[in-house]
Amino acid sequence: MRFAIFGDIHANLEALETVLADARENGCSHFVCLGDVVGYNANPHECLEIVRGLGCPVVKGNHDEQAAISDSLDGFNPLAEEALNWTRENLTVDDKKFLNELRLVRQVRDFTIVHATLDTPHKWGYVFNQLDASASFSYQHTSVCFFGHTHAPRAYIRDGPVMSIPLDKIKFEMGKKYFINIGSVGQPRDGDWRAAYVIYHVDKNFIELRRLEYDIQTAQKKILAAGLPKRLADRLAIGK
Ligand code: ZN
Repeated sequence: MRFAIFGDIHANLEALETVLADARENGCSHFVCLGDVVGYNANPHECLEIVRGLGCPVVKGNHDEQAAISDSLDGFNPLAEEALNWTRENLTVDDKKFLNELRLVRQVRDFTIVHATLDTPHKWGYVFNQLDASASFSYQHTSVCFFGHTHAPRAYIRDGPVMSIPLDKIKFEMGKKYFINIGSVGQPRDGDWRAAYVIYHVDKNFIELRRLEYDIQTAQKKILAAGLPKRLADRLAIGK
């Protein structure tokens, strides 16, 4: 059995369609979404419809949370704020209800999923190093947990001390714990513009990171046509 584990789509329809097509071509029959379906890019409603259509487990991201309510946007940078205000106007009441009802942490089979951190998932902290990962490991009750939020793929492994290694292919070993950042479908920030997601080969205890080129020009044109900030289109091309 193969799971496609993806998140931080951020309303990038071209990247999402490319990822899901690749997942199906590679034999994935199960899907898991780590949140931030909306925000930043130009197709929030369309991306939500696709994710909802998969009928898969989804956890809430910080952009999902903010897009679903109408409070003022404290704690977001001006670029994210402008995009979120636009997103709120371009989601249906039903879209917002779906986002609002998402849970922060879920267990799927024998692994856990969360958008940001396991220690304080509602505070939307970022895991950038072993120290940050250690805090989450204290609350991780399965041997594997997948997360997102930083938009940069990375693997943290606890085998005594916590190690941090680039994410490529990993075979899970007994007795170790794994906290895996799967990167971002729709707005990668690790300097590589290609869409990222992970395939989990459940029977082989094995994961692989996938990076895919997609129709970035169309995604950029839509951002500009929607009147969203040009910087949001530019950043897609540099992966930052
Ligand atoms: Zn995000």
